[in-house]
Amino acid sequence: TPDVRPLVAGNWKMNGTRASLDQIKAIAEGVQGPLSEKVETLICPPATLLYVATALCTDSPLQIGAQDCHQNASGAHTGDLSAEMIADCFGTHVIVGHSERRTDHAETDHLVRAKAEAAYAADLTAVICIGETADERKSGQTLDILKRQLAGSVPDGATAERTVVAYEPVWAIGTGLTPTVADVAEAHAFLRAELIKRFGDVGKKMRLLYGGSVKPSNAKELMAVDNVDGALIGGASLKAADFLAIYQVY
Ligand code: PEP
Repeated sequence: TPDVRPLVAGNWKMNGTRASLDQIKAIAEGVQGPLSEKVETLICPPATLLYVATALCTDSPLQIGAQDCHQNASGAHTGDLSAEMIADCFGTHVIVGHSERRTDHAETDHLVRAKAEAAYAADLTAVICIGETADERKSGQTLDILKRQLAGSVPDGATAERTVVAYEPVWAIGTGLTPTVADVAEAHAFLRAELIKRFGDVGKKMRLLYGGSVKPSNAKELMAVDNVDGALIGGASLKAADFLAIYQVY
């Protein structure tokens, strides 16, 4: 998308112990250089590694984020993390509405929107995930689902600076399957049009990431699709070499 700086983001999910900090260190070093002016990078490790990960990135453009936050600012919510806590650990982003959260924790669009609002309140960028299931695609409902999830999950106060939308077909996550380039192009053009309808010029600049089995071997063709402004990478972000190879397709 013209005038949009792509974002290559990694989601470590429930993977990674202190031993994995070597990978963060290698990524932090690997993204230093001129390409980092063109392309933003982000790794979202598990929350246990957040604070120490940001400390490894003080001399690197690599940003560190979290994988979820609570919708409230503080209080009696055992086991949850607030957006402010993420910001306090120098996290800059938080993923909200990942399909695994929607499935494992029955998160709704309404809740995801509230979480994105909590992210904004703490001055974090919300990476808002949406995507259809295999059954929804088979029955021809993909664009209807995307329209509903986008409308429901993105807050009215969304800005291009603080909002990233990740299109992640649920059936492509962790499966090795990816949609065709034509299907990705169709979904992203549709999402762009919906964002412009709702947000005007701001909608032109919101980053639209593709996620779902992105790896070094397919990244180039996926990242070249119109309206694809970067990637959200699960499995392939765990290894610095793979993450950096994807970053380097730009
Ligand atoms: C993800 O976790 O958001 C994801 C896209 O996973 P994977 O790249 O492993 O499919």
